Amino acid sequence: MFPLAKAQTIHHTLSVTLLPEQSHIIVVDQIQFPEGSAKNLSFKLRSSLSVEAKDAGLVMTGESAQGRLRHYRLNRLAQNSTVQVTYRGEIFSSQERQLFEMPESVLSREGVYLDGGSGWIPYFSHQSNITFDLTVKAPEGWEIISQGKRQTIDKSFRYEMPLPQDDIYLIGGLFKRYQKQFNDIEMEVYLLEDNQQLAENYLQATAQYLQFYSELIAPYPYAKFAVVENRWQTGYGMPSFTLLGSRVLRLPFILHSSLPHEILHNWWGNGVYIDFTQGNWSEGLTAYLSDHLIQEQRGKGRIYRRKALERYANFAAEEHDFALSEFRSRHNEASQAVGYSKSLMLFHMLRNLSGRETFKQNIKKLWQRYQFQKVNFPDVIRQLFTGNDLQYQLFVDQWLKKPGAPSLSLGETRITEDATGFHLQMTINQLQAGTPYVMHLPVDVELADRESLERRFITLTERQTLISLNFQQRPVSITVDPDYDVFRLLDGSEKPSSLGRLFGAKKQLLVLPTEVSQEQKKAWQQLAKQWSSRYNNIEIIDDINLSILPKDTAVWLLGWKNKALKTYQQRFTAAGQQVLGGEVQIHGQTLNASTHTAVLLDPDNSRTALAFIAAEQAQTIALLARKLPHYNSFGVLAFELPRVKNIIKSSLTPRVSPLKRNLSN
Ligand SMILES: [Zn+2]
Repeated sequence: MFPLAKAQTIHHTLSVTLLPEQSHIIVVDQIQFPEGSAKNLSFKLRSSLSVEAKDAGLVMTGESAQGRLRHYRLNRLAQNSTVQVTYRGEIFSSQERQLFEMPESVLSREGVYLDGGSGWIPYFSHQSNITFDLTVKAPEGWEIISQGKRQTIDKSFRYEMPLPQDDIYLIGGLFKRYQKQFNDIEMEVYLLEDNQQLAENYLQATAQYLQFYSELIAPYPYAKFAVVENRWQTGYGMPSFTLLGSRVLRLPFILHSSLPHEILHNWWGNGVYIDFTQGNWSEGLTAYLSDHLIQEQRGKGRIYRRKALERYANFAAEEHDFALSEFRSRHNEASQAVGYSKSLMLFHMLRNLSGRETFKQNIKKLWQRYQFQKVNFPDVIRQLFTGNDLQYQLFVDQWLKKPGAPSLSLGETRITEDATGFHLQMTINQLQAGTPYVMHLPVDVELADRESLERRFITLTERQTLISLNFQQRPVSITVDPDYDVFRLLDGSEKPSSLGRLFGAKKQLLVLPTEVSQEQKKAWQQLAKQWSSRYNNIEIIDDINLSILPKDTAVWLLGWKNKALKTYQQRFTAAGQQVLGGEVQIHGQTLNASTHTAVLLDPDNSRTALAFIAAEQAQTIALLARKLPHYNSFGVLAFELPRVKNIIKSSLTPRVSPLKRNLSN
């Protein structure tokens, strides 16, 4: 079925004993190499494990730079290309933390987490794929999770994985397990504490999305899908399961955002594998067909895309930008803005170029052609692109290989009338540096005496493109790219005031209150420290020292007792919001300091970005420090005390776009 993959596949038959009290693991690994393999083979293994080989010679040849891995060579491999390797030793949770603050390996009384990064199985330098048959003897009461379908034999767990993989995961602990069938796929939920309702919600949503994506792409490729709770706040998608943090798992919107996203990764990333050499295509495609598609089905596609463009403009444009072909994985706001937001816009443009129906067919073909093989970004685009070779090359060059985004402005417009009708002429300018982009985009034209808009499609090729459109009635207004269908740099006036605009600013100035308790002061300083390590652009100043608002700097006024508040209070007043003494009014609700906390922004996005955090208890401030970075696209927030539960989140509206023009006079 996968002739190419099969030829390079290494098969592991693993028998694992876990002794978590001692953080000790024993593995007997029967390795079957492809026929005709070399007689000498090199591999790497975690250096805390000692290793022996049966039926072959074994020598240690070196160590990795940090001493975490040891390098070995197997000599005189037997005729049948099989060897039995036994390795054992301790798995300490090292201090090395990955994304989400999770240690790279765990083996303790609480549970086990091992993956490729832990170096817990031999990694052969020439290997491209692995298949496996894993049997794990675990402590009483533990559940064990890996790829594939769970079988239990005499208190042991067995996972057989015949599909080519690039890693073997070993996860376990004291979980409560819930199970249901969806056709022949087993759906599971593993929770750290019993919660029937939560599990039921996940099983139902899982069934819904397995069905949805099986129809959209191809039948779900694995025998099970499991949702596994994690003590660290991860959002990882592995083949046939997802590892979601305890807090993440309990957020109600995750059922229709992260869950479908992680399920979809079983096709993109964990089904079709990523050849990273020219960028990671899987996050953009997955986000496009999950997060974006779900919002689009709810009639919110336009807003979702505008937020994606906002994210890019706030966090990546200018100094933090890089070509999408350089994206490997998300590690900060800028990499998310390129690797997810720009990337999903690339797929959106591909869909607009080919049309929805053709795009759908091509998505199915992408899977049929590349399942369980590695594919690079240009080849993914080729499969979804419908133009000629030259157009394809141009598309790849301008969207994938170079950083940046086109920045558009509407130039002169002119209407003439003759016997044949009305003729609208307009110029559209590309303001960015470098070669102009070739791009196709819609223009909505409002006509006199007609209620609905007429949509036309135009192509830009030059720094200044002159467009002529003919109508039977007089055009009264035009809007270029009204639905944010192309990837471009939003104009400042198209970006509403939002928390993201502050976080992504060149500099953030935090104005600390001086006449408050030591405890409160400390809490604000701690917030400043946390944000500083995240955004790297923080400065602080005491409220008594703030004379004017500096230029090119986003300013946060912290705390109810902030002395600068009096001066700038008016700036937070707009339709639906107001700061008054010790109270904040939002959409007709009055919130006071003893029961609520809130964040208000100056809604005028042409001025210095200015925000006020209405809080005073140290505990509240600590929670806000963690929570606010997750509300990038919002401009008005309110939370209920003491748990700081969000009750209001709304976006402010941008001023009129420079790509919209009234033609009536
Ligand atoms: Zn993802």
